Amino acid sequence: KRAAAHCIEGTERFVSTDKGRGLRAVRHFSVGELVFACPAYSYVLTVNERGAYCEQCFTRREDLFKCGKCKQAYYCNVDCQRGDWSMHKMECLAMCAYGENWCPSETVRLVARIILKQKVTTEQTPSERLLLLKDFESHLDKMDSIKDEMNQADIAALHHFYSRYINDIPDDQSLTELFAQVNCNGFTIEDEELSHLGSAIFPDVALMNHSCNPNVIVTYKGTVAEVRAVQELNPGDEILNSYIDLLYPTEDRKERLLDSYFFTCLCSECFTKSKDKEKIKIRKNIPPEPEKIQSMICYAKNLIEEFRRAKHYKNILLPPLLELCELSLDKMGSIFADTNVYMLHMMYQAMGVCLYMQDWEGAMRYGEKIIHPYSFHYPAYSLNVASMYLKLGHLYLGLEKRTQGVKALKKALSIMEVAHGKDHYYVAEVKREIEEQK
Ligand SMILES: [Zn+2]
Ligand SMILES: [Zn+2]
Ligand SMILES: [Zn+2]
Repeated sequence: KRAAAHCIEGTERFVSTDKGRGLRAVRHFSVGELVFACPAYSYVLTVNERGAYCEQCFTRREDLFKCGKCKQAYYCNVDCQRGDWSMHKMECLAMCAYGENWCPSETVRLVARIILKQKVTTEQTPSERLLLLKDFESHLDKMDSIKDEMNQADIAALHHFYSRYINDIPDDQSLTELFAQVNCNGFTIEDEELSHLGSAIFPDVALMNHSCNPNVIVTYKGTVAEVRAVQELNPGDEILNSYIDLLYPTEDRKERLLDSYFFTCLCSECFTKSKDKEKIKIRKNIPPEPEKIQSMICYAKNLIEEFRRAKHYKNILLPPLLELCELSLDKMGSIFADTNVYMLHMMYQAMGVCLYMQDWEGAMRYGEKIIHPYSFHYPAYSLNVASMYLKLGHLYLGLEKRTQGVKALKKALSIMEVAHGKDHYYVAEVKREIEEQK
């Protein structure tokens, strides 16, 4: 019989009437204060960032050295390589054996690591002071046939790529549950500009319930998740994190939460819908014809979903993508205002393509259109807003627009000092960049 979960000072696990288990404060926390930190239980660096980040500690540096066997994993030094070997071993052998045919998804890679970790851990890990991984919700009963098919495909891929390198892979029933648990409790790790770095499991962080007006933000220091207050917390307050991008109107957020996390949000934003009108703002000279507006919203949502899927399958060609963004902006712009979130979504995509194609002027122009609407659609402290100011600041500096660059970086800094904490290396880096302009 396992021991009861320990607590984290200043917080306690509790059971709420409408949301099930959750986390609440037992003392006061001020804005910017660290509520708790949680080391990753398991994690995996994304394939695209190999060579830029250490596989073991997620440090970004240029002088990493590569694994002599597979020549694909990179490390700070021998210590990091040794530390990662128990996990990297199976991938190292598999990558050598499969060569170019090695292509498991990031979820499959993460689950392979969880299985290995479960083999070597018998006790509660430091990542599970509040919630054990094996007690994660799986919502297996709510899976539809599409999700079930994806789950089966993941299991097949796990067997295909790892069966020769992991002894006694759990049976299919256990794997079905594990993949479902990872899908609704897993985290993605991003850098300060919100570029994807990898996937990870943080059990204690997963205990927090969702709100569209969250009072904490999760950031990462290497492979450790840090939870900081972005609103004052008083004893008894539930600690609430956001699971989703908060840009979109209530209906869209509800759909997303139900589809990915299987619940209906009951937060005050979802109840009052206070920001919806601004989020779906219509161009001033357009007489409101509800049907036309509704059909344009449908068009926008379908397009966003198409983009999301295409990105998932990595089969987008960039110049046609930029053209599609511009065409859809023209079409939507006949009804939607420039500050409408569907317009902003397409501008953000277009900006991403410009950055990728090193069209700095183009990226800057989109960034300038996005930043102000972003600041009022998102909550006061938002990583989306901070990262947009960062990107814009870097673009300005690259284009020799010093004053504007410094101004944008300072805006980013003021959010990051709260969200990441004053002592975070990302904060130090931005401060250094500002200092260099003097
Ligand atoms: Zn390292
Ligand atoms: Zn290797
Ligand atoms: Zn909500």
